[in-house]
Amino acid sequence: MSAVASRTERLTAARDRIFDAVIIGGGVNGACLYDRLCREGYRVALLDRGDFACGTSQASAMMVWGGLLYLRCFDLGSVYRFSRARDSMIREMGDLISPRVFRYCTAPGAVLGKYVVLGGLYAYWLIGHFNRRHPALEAHYPEERLLAQSAGSLTYEEAVLKMSDSRFVLHWIAPHTLPRAVALNYCAVDGGDFAQSEGVWRLRAQDRLGTSQIEICSRLVVNCAGVWTDQVNAAFAIQSPYKHALSKGVYISFPRPSDHEIPLIFESGAHGDVMTSVPWGPVAMWGPTETAIDDADQGFVFLLDQRNRCLKAESRKEDILALRCGVRPLAVKTDYDKDVYPLELSRRFRIATDPWRPWISTYGGKLTGCTMLAAKVAVAARPFLPSPPTVVPRPRLPGAVPRTRFPGLEKPVPDPAWCKAREFCCTLEDYLRRRTNIAQWLPRGGLGRHDENLPHLRAVCLALADGDGKAAEADLARYRAQVAERFDAVLDAA
Ligand SMILES: Cc1cc2nc3c(=O)[nH]c(=O)nc-3n(C[C@H](O)[C@H](O)[C@H](O)COP(=O)(O)OP(=O)(O)OC[C@H]3O[C@@H](n4cnc5c(N)ncnc54)[C@H](O)[C@@H]3O)c2cc1C
Repeated sequence: MSAVASRTERLTAARDRIFDAVIIGGGVNGACLYDRLCREGYRVALLDRGDFACGTSQASAMMVWGGLLYLRCFDLGSVYRFSRARDSMIREMGDLISPRVFRYCTAPGAVLGKYVVLGGLYAYWLIGHFNRRHPALEAHYPEERLLAQSAGSLTYEEAVLKMSDSRFVLHWIAPHTLPRAVALNYCAVDGGDFAQSEGVWRLRAQDRLGTSQIEICSRLVVNCAGVWTDQVNAAFAIQSPYKHALSKGVYISFPRPSDHEIPLIFESGAHGDVMTSVPWGPVAMWGPTETAIDDADQGFVFLLDQRNRCLKAESRKEDILALRCGVRPLAVKTDYDKDVYPLELSRRFRIATDPWRPWISTYGGKLTGCTMLAAKVAVAARPFLPSPPTVVPRPRLPGAVPRTRFPGLEKPVPDPAWCKAREFCCTLEDYLRRRTNIAQWLPRGGLGRHDENLPHLRAVCLALADGDGKAAEADLARYRAQVAERFDAVLDAA
């Protein structure tokens, strides 16, 4: 039997049973909770209105970090919690996460003097219980040649994902399958009711790859919809003491110089914030922004100037390989209406249970600490769930991922047919952006500067559409329109 049941089988299964829990939102928080509840032996459905990890969880810096930045606002509680989460993730998930030295580059005339930063790094190390490598000063270092100016650097240790953030999300989902676990991407929950007499939620969900609407029944609902949590709660008139403030984060990617191996951190001069250059495969991601916004779907800018201020070689917008935009969900009280710089808001996650109905909402939550959030939600869920039958170990996916070549990339990428059969991959965008890193590593979402990769993308579409030429062309046309709108037009307007 294949590790993942077909979409038709999963849709049928979603209709014909009462789940112990339905999780709305397949980002890192929903996915990690899904894994946890599945392993506790419950019948669980995970639903995402788009692809798994298509929200904020595909836009992170992929760092598992102790929250150094929050030290600046003296949010010591967050630093303590994130440092603990980082260290336990390194301990327990060594195959997915590895410790990594970071370099804080100081420039002549920087607002924060070298020794102030060193003091801060020592405080950070101390709050992290001395678990990581101790901070150190370095007068000279290999990346110095890339910088516009340098007055030495300070090194300290964090951790990074060994895979992309999207694949990290998938790794929680893919091993679980029928009969107890049902994961459906492209399945949007848009309403429903709680039948008090039966103690069951009846959720209305739209199969966005077909035309059907399905009813999904569950004793408990957990809202893990990230920046859309408030919208989902509003559709069900859920009460909560929290809501989300939204903070937009953008990275722009450039070709990575071969000697840029360590993440570099620069003072940005604004709000005491920093800019980073994060090496990732053939690219280096420059960013992020930290901008308060009112709406989850707004756009980008300002990073090129910052980059040209810090690095020696001038970058032009034509050099940009990819944009990476995401919106951070930050938990605040419902009556919060201040206009503060997002970095000053607490990064704690929050969990709220509706006073009348079995519905749990999650707020905040990062890659770092996703297992902690899942553990806390699992405890909050216990009053609504039957005693679990048995705690099962996480099933292992059989065999290695078959790989194939893609022009312009040195290393082979996962095979599209395999991604379709085993990893819920439905569209060209799923494949290029989340099953592989092609869309982030090659120009214009993998199309190439002059559309030179079109024949390869057409072949991928055919594999995903099981040889149906018409469906494949429609998928390709959709993707090209998306690149024109989200990359070409954005850079033209900048
Ligand atoms: C620029 C940037 C850099 C970051 N870097 C880091 C980092 O280095 N380390 C770190 O730990 N954290 C980082 N973060 C934070 C982290 O990425 C996010 O906090 C985290 O990914 C949020 O995950 P989530 O599961 O809550 O939300 P999401 O990933 O957004 O998932 C929510 C999901 O809910 C789905 N959904 C919404 N409405 C519905 C509906 N009606 N029905 C079904 N599904 C629905 C969406 O499609 C989406 O997939 C960064 C964030 C940003 C923006």
